[in-house]
Amino acid sequence: MSLLTIGTVAFDAIETPFGKTGKILGGAGTFIGLSASKLVDKVNIVSVVGEDFPIEYIKIMEDHGIDTKGLQVKRGGKTFFWSGRYDMDMNNRETLDTKLNVLENFDPIVPDEYQNCDYLMLGSLLPTTQKKVIERLWKRPKLIVLDTMNFWMDLMMPVLKETLTMVDVLCINDSEARQLSQEYSLVKAAKVIMAMGPKYLIIKKGEHGALLFHANDVFFAPALPLEDVFDPTGAGDTFAGGFIGYLAATDDISFSNMKRALIHGSALASFAVEKFGTERMVDLTDEEFEERLQQFVELVQFDIKVENAY
Ligand code: AMP
Repeated sequence: MSLLTIGTVAFDAIETPFGKTGKILGGAGTFIGLSASKLVDKVNIVSVVGEDFPIEYIKIMEDHGIDTKGLQVKRGGKTFFWSGRYDMDMNNRETLDTKLNVLENFDPIVPDEYQNCDYLMLGSLLPTTQKKVIERLWKRPKLIVLDTMNFWMDLMMPVLKETLTMVDVLCINDSEARQLSQEYSLVKAAKVIMAMGPKYLIIKKGEHGALLFHANDVFFAPALPLEDVFDPTGAGDTFAGGFIGYLAATDDISFSNMKRALIHGSALASFAVEKFGTERMVDLTDEEFEERLQQFVELVQFDIKVENAY
């Protein structure tokens, strides 16, 4: 089934206790595309970069199943730039700089051949842009997933809330869920957020896994305990890409299939953190992915017959 994504395509500069990068390939849309393309043949992307964006980066995206016809290159413009620092607790990061650059006046044009998409992944960028893309589609996709960040909640909460009424699944992290709902308990937060529009809510908890809420159901997917976490940047987007990629590949949006999708997202995200930026996702082979999925199966498998337990 066809998959369309939007989201930043960026230059990132990252500092972790293990090192520091210059400007490298990053962006929510990039991570989503690299991840989802492990599961579907092609991911269409609508996004924008500046003239400073290297052609080699576009080639990396194309070589990894991302169709870049919808990636606008703004003449004279500068690519979105984000820089962040992690300390030893990699669940917390400090944003050092965010420069919207070409993203600020971005008009998301959806190429005709991207129309009639079945699955839409609205990766993090301006909520106004996310909303515009939904409105510009000729037909409502079967499933719309939205990811966002505290940055957009601080800046554009009213339009973000309007956009939430138009989507099926919201994918955010725990602190964003608390900010959006004004509730500390994630169970209470989930109730408040699902009343805002999305029927499904995914709350990512970094190395502590992710929760999927729907009505009165809840499912938990762990994160793989890894010996080395090198750089968590993009893990959330990689997770979201794996989630929607699996749903698009199987074309089944039942709650039980979403559970499997969550595990695929977690498995892919576990690779993203192993090297700086997109490096590990670019290297990732199908064999390594399958092996890791198997590790997940073993991690969560247990055998209890509740009726005979006592
Ligand atoms: P994650 O670690 O999954 O939250 O995603 C990090 C990626 O999101 C980086 O590659 C950044 O380029 C990108 N990013 C950082 N801030 C923003 C923002 N405000 N909106 C969209 N993308 C962003």
